[in-house]
Amino acid sequence: MTVHDKPFAARLAKPATRVLLLGGALEARRLAERIAAERRLEGVVSLAGRTSAPMAQDLPLRVGGFGGVEGLMRYIKEERIDKVIDAMHPFAARMAENARDACRALGVPILKLSRAQWTPQSGDRWIEAADQAEAAMALGAPPRRVFLTTGRLGLPNYISAPQHFYLVRAIEPPAERDLPPHCETILERGPFDCESEMKLMRLHKIDALVTKNSGGDSTYAKIEAARRLGIDVVIIARPHIDGVRVVHEIECAMAFLLEGSS
Ligand code: NAP
Repeated sequence: MTVHDKPFAARLAKPATRVLLLGGALEARRLAERIAAERRLEGVVSLAGRTSAPMAQDLPLRVGGFGGVEGLMRYIKEERIDKVIDAMHPFAARMAENARDACRALGVPILKLSRAQWTPQSGDRWIEAADQAEAAMALGAPPRRVFLTTGRLGLPNYISAPQHFYLVRAIEPPAERDLPPHCETILERGPFDCESEMKLMRLHKIDALVTKNSGGDSTYAKIEAARRLGIDVVIIARPHIDGVRVVHEIECAMAFLLEGSS
């Protein structure tokens, strides 16, 4: 005869795996949804606090820096975090390195969930740049009309190339002092579609696009629009973070989180 002793079984069940999800990109919101629906996982999302109205999350949210590697280590210990997922934007390099170093020091497993980067297609006119300073130089000496989609924090790099007109697209308003002299700002958050990107580029007589190689679908339309209009694209290469396994699929991140749980 089998006797089902539920309270005893419950005492034997493993506690949920506690996950710190470093967010700030679309992938993080999608993964948060999956973690919230999984009883073997308990998660908290961490955001830097760069946007004044962060999008709703399916998990509890904490906002603001930890205070470097030491602060992050303290948080991981205090909150008894078992696993960390870096699902930040691929260009958030400092925090990615902090997370790697804190996890390495504490022996906490970490995985990076990141969209695959874009690769040039036939018809693309790409000029690769290592960073924003190089991108500003790559625009060249003659004045151009530039669509600048690299976010507000890198804008001071373009002050050194004041001969160009810049159409700046950002989510939050840039500081006046960071702007090059000839520019117009539009505040918008993606996703964008190819037709509207082409319309915008035509309206402003754009002849060069500057973008980070962010990857993913939601902001790819500008690359396609530039290809169709025959416009040069200065594309900024991703920072490389050594020593952390990278996956592109939510399923792989879930498998990592559920490994060893029952
Ligand atoms: P970053 O340069 O790598 O990080 C700068 C500092 O911000 C970090 O040292 C950390 O402060 C804090 N921080 C960053 N991400 C955090 C997080 N998820 N939770 C708590 N603190 C965080 O980062 P960034 O490039 O400024 O990006 C900031 C956030 O915006 C990221 O979460 C990223 O996903 C998102 N984002 C970035 C880009 C981009 O192009 N860089 C684009 C879209 C979205 P402490 O050292 O004090 O812990």
